[in-house]
Amino acid sequence: MTPEFLQLPEALLEADKRRQDALRRKFNARVRMSPAEMETARSLILEKELRAEFERNPDDHTANRLAEQLSFQGRFEEAAKVARDPDWIRFYQMAAAAIEAEPCDCPNGYAAVGQERIKLPRLRAIKQIYSRKHGAHGYLVECADGHRFFSNAAPTAD
Ligand SMILES: [Zn+2]
Repeated sequence: MTPEFLQLPEALLEADKRRQDALRRKFNARVRMSPAEMETARSLILEKELRAEFERNPDDHTANRLAEQLSFQGRFEEAAKVARDPDWIRFYQMAAAAIEAEPCDCPNGYAAVGQERIKLPRLRAIKQIYSRKHGAHGYLVECADGHRFFSNAAPTAD
């Protein structure tokens, strides 16, 4: 039998149960996060750690890792300044520009395969990214003519 001073009033037990339910719902919601959303959530913690590490040891490896965490938060301009790897710097600059670009409506592209003309998908996804401008996770997409922009939805096959 629990001593009286340790017994919780009914109202408190109810509140506790509600808190636990809320936590469980949050946890379940986390499970349903997309990989890109998970990356963003994790990057908020990793960024702090990597900033501290970078202050102690500002080598290329740490700089590139910090830039990656910034990019997961849609901070591509900062990432381009922090990164040391030329390929990643180009990618971050491209993503930053694509987020600012207007979507195009270029027609489908075609590819010749032997005698046949194969219709190419209008857009292809380059990477799942977070756009701070759009306040959403979505896709960095490219049309057959090479225009790149942000799309909320994954490109479809047609
Ligand atoms: Zn286009």
